[in-house]
Amino acid sequence: MNEIISTKNSTFSFAGKRTWITGHRGMLGSALVRSLSKEGANLLLASRQELDLSNQSAVHDWVDQNRPELIFHVGAKVGGIHANATYPADFLYGNLMIQTNVIDAAHHYGVKKLVFVASNCIYPAIAAQPISEDSIMTGPLENNIRSYAISKIAGIELCRAYRKQYGCNFISVIPPNLYGPGDNYHLQHSHVVAGILRRAHEAKQAGKREFVVWGDGTPRREILYVDDVAEAMKCLMAAPMTHDMFNVGCGYDFSIAELANLIAEVVGFEGSVVYDTSKPNGTMGKLLDNSRIQAIGWRPKVDEKTGLQNAYKDFLSLLETPNRSSRL
Ligand code: GDP
Repeated sequence: MNEIISTKNSTFSFAGKRTWITGHRGMLGSALVRSLSKEGANLLLASRQELDLSNQSAVHDWVDQNRPELIFHVGAKVGGIHANATYPADFLYGNLMIQTNVIDAAHHYGVKKLVFVASNCIYPAIAAQPISEDSIMTGPLENNIRSYAISKIAGIELCRAYRKQYGCNFISVIPPNLYGPGDNYHLQHSHVVAGILRRAHEAKQAGKREFVVWGDGTPRREILYVDDVAEAMKCLMAAPMTHDMFNVGCGYDFSIAELANLIAEVVGFEGSVVYDTSKPNGTMGKLLDNSRIQAIGWRPKVDEKTGLQNAYKDFLSLLETPNRSSRL
């Protein structure tokens, strides 16, 4: 089905458009594949074996041969707070290499528009809530995620620089904590929703009376279902350029304690939560101001109850899947 996306000021169709999604096997990349393939986009996809995004000449050659018109640059090294604190060099080096190659090749081969995925951790650790896009680089970053944050700030700045110097139509999106089908449920390296979901499930299966949640439960996080972020990125790809960075959020957040209770309910775990305060709280709050993207007509469609139920189904089906280890 060829859906015409209408934003406030434009109509746009992805049908037939040569569209490269980097990181198409990850949670967000695969949500974009699902959505764009329904619309008849001419998807250009390269697996990690076919193309090493950290190899500059390989990326240039691939873009030269495949000539994408549009790029969703999703591919990145990602992980939760513990992974970020443990592997800062991998996050900083890996993401700088990958995004620099993709963004430079996009300019070199005349890509019409590129949407770069950043993260809410780019904002200062202490920022007025909800956090507007203008808060970037106004204060110190949260220590555990600094390397990843700096890699993403560099990506945003690179898009800006190519726009300023060469007139490239490159923009950045800033999503909150994502969750949904395709997530990584690794006990140490996952993000908060997937980590809690797995621990609640395992406690239920083992007949335990409690399960562990990291930190003290008081930090607040905004969560967003992955398909909603994919739709926001499509809207932004289709929309005329009004700004070069856009927060993509639902506009409200939960304390980690509230989130743990919500997830326990979805999983059907009836015991209680204990807090492991040897694990970091991280940033105390990072609710995004979503007025800029709302002004172009995007709204999230999936409420957290439905989204968490879908995520739990995804987790359960993963347990049944052979060769499942890469997401567990
Ligand atoms: P962040 O939003 O960048 O800090 O990244 P995360 O998605 O890893 O969320 C971290 C927040 O969730 C911190 O406040 C953690 O203390 C809390 N948290 C509670 N349980 C878990 C868990 O099982 N995994 C993760 N990653 N975070 C957890």
